[in-house]
Amino acid sequence: MNYKSTRDNSIEVKSSEAIAKGLSPEGGLFVPESIPTVSLTNIKYMADMSYTQRAKEILGRFLTDFTEDELENCIAAAYTKEKFETNSIAPVYKMNDSQYVLELWHGPTCAFKDMALQILPHLLTTSVKKLGIDRETVILVATSGDTGKAALEGFKDVAGTKIIVFFPDEGVSQIQRLQMCTQEGKNVFVSAVNGNFDDAQNGVKAIFTDKEYENELLSEKKALSSANSINWGRLVPQIVYYFSAYCDMVKAEEIECGDEVNVCVPTGNFGNILAAYYAKCMGLPIKKLICASNKNNVLTDFINTGVYDRNREFYVTTSPSMDILISSNLERLLYMISGGNDSLVKGYMTELKENGKYAVSDEIKEEIKKNFYGGCADDEKCAKTISDTYEKFGYVTDTHTAVAVAVHNEYVKETGDETKTIIASTASPFKFNGAVLSALGNEEQVAELDEFRLLDKLAEDYELRVPASLKSLEEKEIRFEVVCDKNQMKAVINEFLKN
Ligand SMILES: *Cc1c(COP(=O)(O)O)cnc(C)c1O
Repeated sequence: MNYKSTRDNSIEVKSSEAIAKGLSPEGGLFVPESIPTVSLTNIKYMADMSYTQRAKEILGRFLTDFTEDELENCIAAAYTKEKFETNSIAPVYKMNDSQYVLELWHGPTCAFKDMALQILPHLLTTSVKKLGIDRETVILVATSGDTGKAALEGFKDVAGTKIIVFFPDEGVSQIQRLQMCTQEGKNVFVSAVNGNFDDAQNGVKAIFTDKEYENELLSEKKALSSANSINWGRLVPQIVYYFSAYCDMVKAEEIECGDEVNVCVPTGNFGNILAAYYAKCMGLPIKKLICASNKNNVLTDFINTGVYDRNREFYVTTSPSMDILISSNLERLLYMISGGNDSLVKGYMTELKENGKYAVSDEIKEEIKKNFYGGCADDEKCAKTISDTYEKFGYVTDTHTAVAVAVHNEYVKETGDETKTIIASTASPFKFNGAVLSALGNEEQVAELDEFRLLDKLAEDYELRVPASLKSLEEKEIRFEVVCDKNQMKAVINEFLKN
């Protein structure tokens, strides 16, 4: 199967090229030219499989130029019990008769980005090798916290790669800083940048678009690459866990194979929920895709009105990984729903770039409404949902997951649709312990205790276990203490690459 660009149908590449390149040269995103199908018989058969076997079934349908061995090796390197602290990798927790929580945070950094970033480095290095390209891949990341750590863990000691992460000196939590500055691995480097996230991000962007620097690196057989969520290699592993969750529910006799379920996803860049839409198009019996946003509700408005408008105030919320005004992966949805209309998609994206806004046609709007429901919850509602959910079901969710639970509750109230629903849980409550403990009525302690004591408190008071990777942080050796200015970032990279 080949891949096309959302902005130019004449571009066609193999899956390994789509992954090695990341972005199409004219700015479009790579999408499969057709959607492979999975029959109910296949799904029934997959119900008895392990997560890694299910992954092979799904990835194999998309990455058709990978050999079976190559796929198996990538999967085996990514999804291990050591890294995920559980054999089931992405377990489903039945919260009540209609809400099934798909826990995507058992990986090394306690957030769902591990699901894709644990396998992406292997897909990437395999792709580069397959294409016969003789070069080292240098991953460059600017992070506001979570992605950087997940990328570091994913690329750590992967042969043929180096990774450098820049984070804003003023912009990350104590735990996030420690997670990055204690990072192990021979091929990693971490630096703080004076300033905020935009400073770090703009610095990295400037380096990516520096042609002269690109050529300089190429002469040393090195190429820069990003671990960005627009890479197909980050999206495709996310399709797997929706099939896996459905299979788990069939196996546990919560549903019969063929029964429809809803899926509800706390959304930022639209990657996670788009993966669920792909699963639906492939034949997974999904009725409605419920798109949950926080106060940055640009997607809620888009689904309800057909107008995407990023010209609005930006809010910092307690679910920071969803504080996004441009959801890049929406471009792939528009391409699919318009039947592969590249010029239409290109037009929308030009309008977005020039005016910060576009309006889709009535047909596209209707098709989106048929598949998606959009809702949002602000910080106050999110906090109330955390405490209500704990009181009713004894289950503690993180802030991002709580936004999804809140929107799902609202959806059921509004529509009366009580179809069993898979709710994507994207972070461990320990990762956002301050906001979670405050929501549960511990504001005073949150103001007094440091983050490590808060971990213990959350565990003790709510009968949970602190994830090993967070617990061990306090004792770990600090390996990286560099703080640079925005204009020194290239020098930091060069210094690291020399060794
Ligand atoms: C990245 C992230 C999200 C948003 O996912 P998208 O694929 O960008 O929509 C939600 N929750 C958490 C915890 C995240 O890290």
